[in-house]
Amino acid sequence: MNVQQPNSFRVGPDEHGHFGIHGGRFVAETLMPLILELEQAYAQAKNDPGFRGEMDRHLADYVGRPSPLYFAERLTAHLGGAQVFFKREDLNHTGAHKVNNVLGQIMLAKRMGKPRVIAETGAGMHGVATATLCAKFGLDCVVYMGEVDVGRQQPNVLRMQALGAEVRPVTSGAKTLKDAMNEALRDWVTNVEQTFYCIGTVAGPHPYPMMVRDFQSIIGEETREQMLAATGRLPDSLIACIGGGSNAIGLFHPFLDEPQIEIFGVEAAGHGLASGLHAASIAGGRPGVLHGNRTYLLMDDDGQIKEAHSISAGLDYPGVGPEHAWLNDVERVKYLSATDEEALAAFRLCSRLEGIIPALEPAHALAKAMELAPARPQEHLMVVNLSGRGDKDLASVAAHLGGAL
Ligand SMILES: *Cc1c(COP(=O)(O)O)cnc(C)c1O
Repeated sequence: MNVQQPNSFRVGPDEHGHFGIHGGRFVAETLMPLILELEQAYAQAKNDPGFRGEMDRHLADYVGRPSPLYFAERLTAHLGGAQVFFKREDLNHTGAHKVNNVLGQIMLAKRMGKPRVIAETGAGMHGVATATLCAKFGLDCVVYMGEVDVGRQQPNVLRMQALGAEVRPVTSGAKTLKDAMNEALRDWVTNVEQTFYCIGTVAGPHPYPMMVRDFQSIIGEETREQMLAATGRLPDSLIACIGGGSNAIGLFHPFLDEPQIEIFGVEAAGHGLASGLHAASIAGGRPGVLHGNRTYLLMDDDGQIKEAHSISAGLDYPGVGPEHAWLNDVERVKYLSATDEEALAAFRLCSRLEGIIPALEPAHALAKAMELAPARPQEHLMVVNLSGRGDKDLASVAAHLGGAL
């Protein structure tokens, strides 16, 4: 394919939220004033040193940033190629990268005078992060969650309730994430005045994909400084898993205009792309509209959204953020996929060689790092985004491995 490449990969989206043919804002007319209000409030907050300063303070004292950049010495020796580093987002408060974004959005909700926050969640991790920050900032929190997910993610439901949030089970459709998303949008339309909608990944109508990316970009900004301090130069490759794509774009974005750096996003291939049971929207989907934006989606022949399948609930999003869809089209980022089996093998290896139990989501990124690192020279510096910790996944890993952890 011969692709027209832009002068910079970091300037998007345009004023209507487009990344190439992707993105935009496909929302009900009643929501439009609200989206414009949010866009304006975010633009002002971004340029307010007071807002930035307060956010930096909470990132340091509450989230625990900067997260370390860790040289995975035994994994590197085992793979026998590139030097592998982990960006340790698993060490953040609440155990994953999601808190970086939720902190920003909840501070914005507070600034906009919204007393009530709604969110949707699949695995429950975004719901927990939202409930956490709502507790800290004294806001009411309602989390929509498919009834099926409420059943299979009990520990996170209890966490949200302990934090004072109301969890509303959604009984429409397949009773999973997509249905919870629809329900949250319906709530927003109904309660526009008092409600802030907190989205957990780089999806939704503009300005969400841009705003969430900006809040997560601290991952890549820190990585840049930390790698320079540790080795005197920038990394040669970056690898991150893709659900909606927020941890990945957070790592990638500050590096997009360094053409010598190889960048890899890893989707969940579930039982394999050919099986149809996967969550790989770029590899196995086509462009359509969902959740207020145009992007690659898993759809059947009639254009109905299909359920995403993978061993990691956090990657089971039937779409992908519009900026990733565009970075794929312009060939700046290479999108790969890892199966359940590959992720499980990486989960085991990382736990045993490094004493770090990764979440199953970043285990997909680790699986591809295990493939790519041996084919690269020893001077090659590779960064894997360790987006979250794996305690939450131990029961499902044990179930898959027949109890033999
Ligand atoms: C939610 C989650 C993901 C997937 O979300 P992205 O928006 O793609 O980052 C990845 N890793 C962990 C640990 C998560 O909790």
